[in-house]
Amino acid sequence: MVIVMKPEAEQDDVQQVADRITGLGLHAQSVEQQDRTIINVVERNGVGRDGSAREESVERMRGVEQVKRDLPPFKLASREVKAEDTVVRINGVTIGGDRLAVMAGPCAVESRDQMRQVSRTVKEAGVHILRGGAFKPRTSPYSFQGLGLEGLQILAEMRAEFNLLVVTEVMAPEEVLLVAEHADILQIGARNMQNYALLHAVGRVQRPVLLKRGMMSTVEELLMAAEYILSHGNEQVMLCERGIRTFEKYTRNTLDINAVPLLKHLSHLPVIVDPSHGTGRRELVEPVSMAAVAAGADGLLVEMHPCPEAALSDGPQSLRPEDFAAMMHKLRRMAEVMGKRIDAAEGAHANA
Ligand code: PEP
Ligand code: MN
Repeated sequence: MVIVMKPEAEQDDVQQVADRITGLGLHAQSVEQQDRTIINVVERNGVGRDGSAREESVERMRGVEQVKRDLPPFKLASREVKAEDTVVRINGVTIGGDRLAVMAGPCAVESRDQMRQVSRTVKEAGVHILRGGAFKPRTSPYSFQGLGLEGLQILAEMRAEFNLLVVTEVMAPEEVLLVAEHADILQIGARNMQNYALLHAVGRVQRPVLLKRGMMSTVEELLMAAEYILSHGNEQVMLCERGIRTFEKYTRNTLDINAVPLLKHLSHLPVIVDPSHGTGRRELVEPVSMAAVAAGADGLLVEMHPCPEAALSDGPQSLRPEDFAAMMHKLRRMAEVMGKRIDAAEGAHANA
C-alpha cells in the first residue's frame, strides 16, 4: 500500500498518518518527492502484504490525497502509483515524453584527443549527451580498467568545451559524489544492477540515474532495483535494456525488445535501449536502434569511436563516426513516425 499525500499536506499531517500506520503494526516509510510526500507501507518483516483491509480510516485523514492498494512489488516505479510518464530534464535537455534522447560516445574514455574527436562528431550530429566510461567494469582484471579520475576530468572538460551533458558509470558507493561532480547522469552498469549499497547511494543524491538491466535479470528485478533508488526520493531514474544472456552465440547478448513496451506499460520511467552491448556487433547497431525506437524507447545509448580498430574496449560494437551520423538521419525519421523528436534542446545546452 502507498499513501499519496496532497502537495499542500503539512509535516504534521504526514506524521499523523505515519503514526496511525505504525499503530497498526506496520512500517511507514516517508519518501520525499519534489512536490509531495508519499508514505510507503510495508509489513515489518516483509514487503508487499500490508493488511490493507485494516486501514480504511487512513483515507479520511488530513492531507491524504489517495490510498493505493494491490500494487506490484515495484510500487513507486509502477504506473499505478504514477500514471503519467516521468520526464527527466537536465539543463534544457529532455529525456522522455515526446523526445528521443541519444547518448553517444566511446565505451571508455581513452584520451583527451579521442574525446575531443568524439565530442565534435556527437555535436555535429545534433546530439547533446556524451557517454564514456572512466571506471570500467571489465570481465578480466588484465583488461583496460579505465582512466579513473583522469577520465572524469576529461569528461568534465568536454562538457564545458562542447556544452554537452555527460553520462558515465559509477561502480562504488564511495565514488558517487566524485562522479556526480563531473557528470550529469550516473550510470549503474549491468554488473551492478543488484549492488544494493550502490543503489542506496545513488538514491541519496539528486542526480539522474541510468540503471542498466543485469545480463541475467528479469524485468521485475530491474524494476525492483529502480525501486531502491526511488525509495530515497530520487525520482530521476531511467531504465536501460542492454541485452540479456541467452544460448545465442553470434551476438554478444540478446536484446530483449519485448522489455521496451513491457517496461513502458508497467512503469512511468523513461526506457533507454543500448543496441551496442545488446548486439556486440557494429553492423547490427543501426537496425536494432531503429527497432528500439519503433518499440517505443525514449532514448538510445550508443557506442561510437573515432577509430574502432584501435579502441581499448568494445571496438567491434562501436560505430565509426560516419556511420553514426548516417544512423542519426534515419533515427530522426523513425522518431517522427513515433511522434517524437530527437532531443531538440532548449536553454543552456542548445546553442553551443
Ligand atoms: C557500458 O555501457 O560501457 C557497459 C559497461 O555496459 P553494461 O554495464 O551494460 O555491460
Ligand atoms: Mn562498452
